[in-house]
Amino acid sequence: MSVMNAPSATRAPVDIPIGPAKMLINNEWVTAQSGKTFATINPATEELITEVPDADLRDVELAVAAARRAFDGGAWRKMSASERGRLMFKLADLIEANKEELARLETLDNGKPLNDSLNADLPLTIACYRYYAGWADKIQGKTIPINGPFFCYTRHEPVGVCAQIIPWNFPLLMQAWKWGPALAAGCTVVMKVAEQTPLSALRVAELALEAGYPPGVINVLTGQGPTAGAPLARHMDVDKVAFTGSTEVGHEIMKASAESNLKRVTLELGGKSPNIVFADTDLDKAADGAHFALFFNQGQCCCAGSRLYVEESVHEEFVAKVVERARNRKVGDPFANETEQGPQVDKAQFDKVLKYIEYGNQDGANMLCGGGRKSDRGYFIEPTVFDNVDEDMRIGKEEIFGPVLSVLSFKNVDDVIQRANKNLYGLAAAVWTRDIEKAHRVANEVRAGTVWVNCYDVFDAAAPFGGYKLSGIGRELGEYGLANYTEIKTVTVKL
Ligand code: ADP
Repeated sequence: MSVMNAPSATRAPVDIPIGPAKMLINNEWVTAQSGKTFATINPATEELITEVPDADLRDVELAVAAARRAFDGGAWRKMSASERGRLMFKLADLIEANKEELARLETLDNGKPLNDSLNADLPLTIACYRYYAGWADKIQGKTIPINGPFFCYTRHEPVGVCAQIIPWNFPLLMQAWKWGPALAAGCTVVMKVAEQTPLSALRVAELALEAGYPPGVINVLTGQGPTAGAPLARHMDVDKVAFTGSTEVGHEIMKASAESNLKRVTLELGGKSPNIVFADTDLDKAADGAHFALFFNQGQCCCAGSRLYVEESVHEEFVAKVVERARNRKVGDPFANETEQGPQVDKAQFDKVLKYIEYGNQDGANMLCGGGRKSDRGYFIEPTVFDNVDEDMRIGKEEIFGPVLSVLSFKNVDDVIQRANKNLYGLAAAVWTRDIEKAHRVANEVRAGTVWVNCYDVFDAAAPFGGYKLSGIGRELGEYGLANYTEIKTVTVKL
């Protein structure tokens, strides 16, 4: 790859070429107008990887103007739909051809185990681009038999310039979830990547240039939330904002839209997802599932199964299995083959998770394993399990976003449904049972955007994902995700 203008590339602690270390506006690699940069850190070693531009309002203006010109000029939306699809397939192919390098970059910047980057993030990312590439020439309206001598039809038009603000837990995948439907629909994009993990998105942008995307169709800003994300969400020339991140910032995004141009808003926010284990299930499989549901990605999943509800009659037996798995989890160098858990993404998250462990102890939960930092360098935390949690404790109701599992006990299906819903979030839920009636009752009555039955974290680009309640607005992925990137126009012709 080209290491365009990357003076600090040699600082990489492992042998991975660091991408442009500049932002992409209008197909040009640029520094921030202010000349300021900020550091991106390797969370496994706490060492500097490189510096990236610290975008502010002036850079936002340039990027939005580029996206506006590209949209209004029609270079993308008026391109034949199949050609748009071809360019998207080409990007997917380029990502696939560079998947090992991208996986290593993701692991370096985020800290997730290389095995996960390679076997989860990259395949899902590639599949997402391909899925939406396939949609590009299948976006169509309807003809509607209205009363009178009229011909009435709808057009599904691209919504326009889209601001996309993404988090750090799945940087490549979140970029794909946002770019896929936007580009398929014919929108142009200004993406603000997370300050913790800017590198892989820049590399994908570089691949998009190689694929031949016209100038201004995709723009990538590196910068902080309040100084780069906020002006983007408030910009009068942005037609839609798609945000994934904390519920707190989700409120800010909504407010920015309300106070500016009522740009369309989709939000994918926090969660405190109930994972419900009935006594009749295969307890070993469910224990594997409960372990994966919470500890995957260092516990940094918005849909993590962080409230584990176990039926009273098997509580003790099941908790012992869960604790055994947590104790055996291999935490360490994310590049090592045996590693299952790397560091938390940064110092702020690391401190927050440790704070919640303190809260658990203060609030009277019973800590059965873990509870501390794992090494004196890097943001590693021991897999931690608390038993005897209830929904009023801070660890029983708030999102922790780390390797801390809260176990609760329940009596029967009525009890657990009512308690699973006793939370402000509603992103995901799961139920483990051999009883088809219980499975369907939970699936129907839990207020969550996704319910997994006898499985967890099964994602597919075709299956919609998103939240009820404080977990967000709108859905990503699948046809519903695409719908958020189109405006429906009704055309009525007098015959
Ligand atoms: P986390 O707490 O997990 O880092 P955030 O919600 O703070 O999650 O961040 C998710 C994304 O939102 C990041 O790209 C971040 O820079 C951005 N962000 C943070 N604050 C704001 C804001 N006020 N307006 C717009 N974007 C923001």
